Amino acid sequence: MIIAIDGPSASGKGTLARRLASHLGFAYLDTGSLYRAVALEVLEADADPRDAGAAALAARNLDFRTLDDPRLRAEKIGEAASLVAAIPKVRSELLAFQRNFAKTPPGGLKGAIIDGRDIGTVVCPDADLKIFITASPAVRVKRRILELEERGLPADPEAILSSVRLRDTRDEARKISPLRPAQDAHLLDTTNLDIDSAFKKACMILEAAGLFGKI
Ligand code: C5P
Repeated sequence: MIIAIDGPSASGKGTLARRLASHLGFAYLDTGSLYRAVALEVLEADADPRDAGAAALAARNLDFRTLDDPRLRAEKIGEAASLVAAIPKVRSELLAFQRNFAKTPPGGLKGAIIDGRDIGTVVCPDADLKIFITASPAVRVKRRILELEERGLPADPEAILSSVRLRDTRDEARKISPLRPAQDAHLLDTTNLDIDSAFKKACMILEAAGLFGKI
């Protein structure tokens, strides 16, 4: 079983997806970390994240065991990730890994929860369930600040707000796999929801879709 969760940066999709995955006993893949890992490789090679050749090479040679590297969480890596993510060759290099994870979740688990921007539209258009998470920019900035502070990383509110806006524009406006809900996605606005309430709402969506009976 495949559950696709998409949404903009800091919408809370990662926290929700992780919690759902542990509740259901599913494997979890944060596809943002793939683009972040490519961005880190490019920056470490002193290349420009807009350089299609350098970014595609980093994507082709990506070591998928490095996705937990804490350096990936820095805001500047998120911004560079949104640049490499607009390069078609980077996206195509990363597609097989994502589809394979969805079809054959690691550890022989019975399902996968995959979060990103284009999971319901491009990576897994046949997912059993698609949820598109939104939240107001102000709430997303607050969440990002908390997340960075918890990791001991710098968090300047003004800089975070402009970074969130910049990434929204890039992710929504790019030609390839832009951020948008799939036609059959369930919309979940988490602006006024804490994680427990968002989790409950997501469970209601799963229930209404008859998924619990199939797991
Ligand atoms: O989700 P996260 O903020 O970690 O993603 C970093 C960047 O990677 C996003 O701003 C987006 O540009 C890109 N991304 C993407 N497609 C995905 C996941 C992330 O383009 N499926």
